[in-house]
This record gives sequence, structure tokens and C-alpha cells, in this order.
Amino acid sequence: MAYEHSIDKDRCKGCGLCVEICPKNVLEISEEVNSKGYFPAYQARPEDCIFCAMCGVMCPDVAITIREIAEDATPKS
Ligand code: SF4
Ligand code: SF4
Repeated sequence: MAYEHSIDKDRCKGCGLCVEICPKNVLEISEEVNSKGYFPAYQARPEDCIFCAMCGVMCPDVAITIREIAEDATPKS
């Protein structure tokens, strides 16, 4: 099963806890403000994510979602 990692940037208050906890150094704080005036976290290196979910557990604002997606959505020929 494949997974998708997403950050709701408008829920994020830029506390940086997810950036610090990530064991693969995937996340960074953006230089662009969100709708609340915070600098949100984003996946700077998404290819390194192992979907361990530690960032989502750590986030006090429940801004991070990790969900299962279909492994291969392309039609077979
Ligand atoms: S799921 Fe794990 S590896 Fe991926 S960004 Fe979050 S803490 Fe880092
Ligand atoms: S832990 Fe949550 S609120 Fe804090 S920077 Fe990460 S996504 Fe944003």
C-alpha cells in the first residue's frame, strides 16, 4: 500500500515541532506566510519520507495527514 503525506498549511502555526521530530529531515518551514500570518511547514524533501507518522502525532494543531492511497491507479494494458 502506498501513502500520501499532506500538510494543511492554513492549520499550521509554524511551531516547527514536526521539522524537529522527523527522522528523515523531510520537513522545513516555508518562507511564505499562510492565511493566519504564520510560516507553515512543508515537505522540502518528500522523496525521503518513510510515512512513519511521527510528524502527525507531534503536531499540536492536527495539520498533518497521512493516508493510504491506491498503489497504482494507472490502467493495466
Ligand atoms: S511521516 Fe515521518 S518521515 Fe515523513 S515527514 Fe513525517 S516524520 Fe518525516
Ligand atoms: S507541528 Fe503542526 S503546527 Fe507545528 S510546524 Fe508542524 S505542521 Fe505546523
